[in-house]
Amino acid sequence: AASVEFRNVTKVYPNARVAAVDQVSLFVEPGRLVTLLGPSGCGKTTTLRMIAGLEMVTSGQILIGGEDVSALPATDRDVSMVFQSYALFPHMSVRENVEFGLKFSGFAKQEIGDRAIAGLKLVGLDGFGERLPSQLSGGQQQRVAVARALVLEPQVLLFDEPLSNLDAKLRRHVREEIREIQQTLGLTVVYVTHDQEEALAVSDRIIVMNNAVIAQEGTPRDLYDAP
Ligand code: ADP
Ligand code: ADP
Repeated sequence: AASVEFRNVTKVYPNARVAAVDQVSLFVEPGRLVTLLGPSGCGKTTTLRMIAGLEMVTSGQILIGGEDVSALPATDRDVSMVFQSYALFPHMSVRENVEFGLKFSGFAKQEIGDRAIAGLKLVGLDGFGERLPSQLSGGQQQRVAVARALVLEPQVLLFDEPLSNLDAKLRRHVREEIREIQQTLGLTVVYVTHDQEEALAVSDRIIVMNNAVIAQEGTPRDLYDAP
């Protein structure tokens, strides 16, 4: 697990009048789960996508594990991302979906198979490998997406509103699972949500964004006096 640091990071999209992210500095300690919380349009997703290298910074630096990755493309960053739409391949089995990212990693076939089995087990889906995504519930599909990101053993794992397509009951369940896996494996996680209750439940620390800047930050207890 690696730290993530922003030094005065700004993102201005082409033709935009204002910055989507404006001179943001932040630090995520290794092995911690930090949430970016704030209303729609405040810059959370842009922040996450810049960590992944899916958007490049306009100015400033991003460091992962102390190394400046600002100029590196996504493929050269040791980061994986779980999206709100699970983005599973519908024609591939659950196992093939989990193995997909590993196919390009140069691992031996045996290692790929072993990691997929371990990943599915971690998210409570051992025995589901030969099913198609459409044969799983929404919560199970999102867990496949989590497994697919986990098997890459990234330095940093990113979640973009991972629960938004789930019903209320599943949301609670999946978020507890994500938190448990994060703590068990000691993963560095940056987690985007607009849901305050969700942020309070899963986070070591919350960074509140508003209008492209950090408005507030602290532990759930600091910010909202939660138990
Ligand atoms: P969210 O609020 O969950 O980030 P949005 O509905 O704002 O989602 O955006 C959905 C997609 O549209 C994202 O890929 C985002 O990058 C893109 N997008 C958002 N705003 C604009 C915009 N003004 N111009 C072009 N693309 C945009
Ligand atoms: P959030 O994730 O908090 O909803 P975003 O990072 O998606 O916020 O968006 C921040 C701002 O950047 C918004 O004003 C949005 O419309 C704009 N934006 C997002 N994606 C794009 C894009 N691809 N092109 C232009 N503007 C965008």
